[in-house]
Amino acid sequence: MRQMIAGNWKMNGTLAGLAGFAAPLASGVDGVDLLICPPFPLIGPMIAAFAGAPVAVGAQDCAVEVAGAHTGDVSAALLAEIGASHVILGHSERRADHGERSAVVRDKARTAAAAGLIPIICIGETLAERESGEAETVVRAQLAGSVPDGFAGLIAYEPVWAIGTGKTPTVADVAAMHASIRASLKKQLGDAGTTMLILYGGSVKPGNAAELLAIPDVGGALIGGASLEADDFLAIAQAAQR
Ligand code: PEP
Repeated sequence: MRQMIAGNWKMNGTLAGLAGFAAPLASGVDGVDLLICPPFPLIGPMIAAFAGAPVAVGAQDCAVEVAGAHTGDVSAALLAEIGASHVILGHSERRADHGERSAVVRDKARTAAAAGLIPIICIGETLAERESGEAETVVRAQLAGSVPDGFAGLIAYEPVWAIGTGKTPTVADVAAMHASIRASLKKQLGDAGTTMLILYGGSVKPGNAAELLAIPDVGGALIGGASLEADDFLAIAQAAQR
């Protein structure tokens, strides 16, 4: 199955830097799906910068509501209208900074899918949860709460303690968690759960990408810091399984 390498720029990036970022990625990487999710104001310009290139552009969040009096929020329909393809939902930074609970993530996933966006639902345990042996239970609960019935998007497993820290779980731990997520998805979604891509995220860099991307049931990667440099992002994509 084709792997996806997705970048999450978070609150980084500039309009001035877009052309320089896009140029080295313009040819894409054979056999690998590429996606970058910049801040909202850069989505339109990034789509223009990648015109004709096999690189999709997505958002990092969308509103639960379809439209209306929700100051500061951005609708899934508008994101789809300007050409965004995917939307990251329930990233741990949104769960922590904005109190987003799984039920909100599930409702956003429904709104996004109805607007034609492909949701990427993020789940992952904290360090305390891992150290107390609760990681799989926590992640299963997040999945059950965040993934709506009939879901047809992607999952990103991102241990909170691995995000932006340079730390990664062992290969065995990633394999065990992805197998557990796969089992839950099959139970919850039936056939759709057997092929759904489960991305790994958390300190993926050019130096560790090949090892992480070769783990069974790892369907690609969600990259934060290393997606800001085109060369690093490209090197990670070149390490993807084909
Ligand atoms: C992320 O925020 O989704 C992420 C994986 O960040 P980093 O790659 O910087 O750990």
